[in-house]
Amino acid sequence: MAEKVQRTDEEWRKRLSPERYQVLRMRGTDRAFTGDLLYNKDNGVYVCAGCGAELFRSDDKYDSGSGWPSFFAPIDEERIEERRDLSHLMMRTEIVCARCGGHLGHVFEDGPEPTGRRYCVNSSSLGFERREGSQRD
Ligand code: FE
Repeated sequence: MAEKVQRTDEEWRKRLSPERYQVLRMRGTDRAFTGDLLYNKDNGVYVCAGCGAELFRSDDKYDSGSGWPSFFAPIDEERIEERRDLSHLMMRTEIVCARCGGHLGHVFEDGPEPTGRRYCVNSSSLGFERREGSQRD
């Protein structure tokens, strides 16, 4: 993994759209069923909208019915940091980009095989790079 990306709040504010800033830096949440990547079924790679780190493959995306893009695995677990999140009277596990610290969403243990995990990610946290064919190595 490349070096960590560190920017001041002001730099992030300048670089990101208000929507992306709100989610990535203020731990916001896209309204369910609104994000532009929710129904995306193209082949490619989902990258962090903050720093460009490649986080998820289209092969690992599935329709969870939750209203947010969902993946059963990241490209590499080391690219995602997990943090306990006790906000909103819930016990959840927040996921953030390991490179820039941007808030991505949460991970739950009710996903499909083979991992049983559901990485529930905001569209505003992600960019998408279309690529040909399967994204598996
Ligand atoms: Fe990032």
